[in-house]
Amino acid sequence: MPNRKIHYRTAAGIGFVVGGISAYYRNRNEKSKLKLFVRVVAEAAVAGVLAGFAGILPDILEPATGPYHRKFFHSYVALVGLMGSLAILNQKDLKGYEPFRFVLNSLGLGYLVHLVQDSMTPKGLPVI
Ligand SMILES: [Zn+2]
Repeated sequence: MPNRKIHYRTAAGIGFVVGGISAYYRNRNEKSKLKLFVRVVAEAAVAGVLAGFAGILPDILEPATGPYHRKFFHSYVALVGLMGSLAILNQKDLKGYEPFRFVLNSLGLGYLVHLVQDSMTPKGLPVI
């Protein structure tokens, strides 16, 4: 069973990479390579920290106090609901709210990483 450190590091690492790729894609027309580099690294770092925090959030909401600690916040319903919410969030035209979307995507990604890690354990995740 992944512990808090593993959840944090995995979510932060994936958040860093995805945040960096996303920042590069959004800023790819920037003429200054230095500005592009700084933006990509800064956004990747922030995304990594946010995803890392969200990566430990399910175990803060439902602490691992026993073998059946996984309830709603660790469930497949939560996983699918979160994925659906992120899909809707990323289809909406949110011009002017990009930082808001960036934060929610980073947090959502970290949370999803945690649930996917827990789903691969022998206990798995409950449906609800
Ligand atoms: Zn967990």
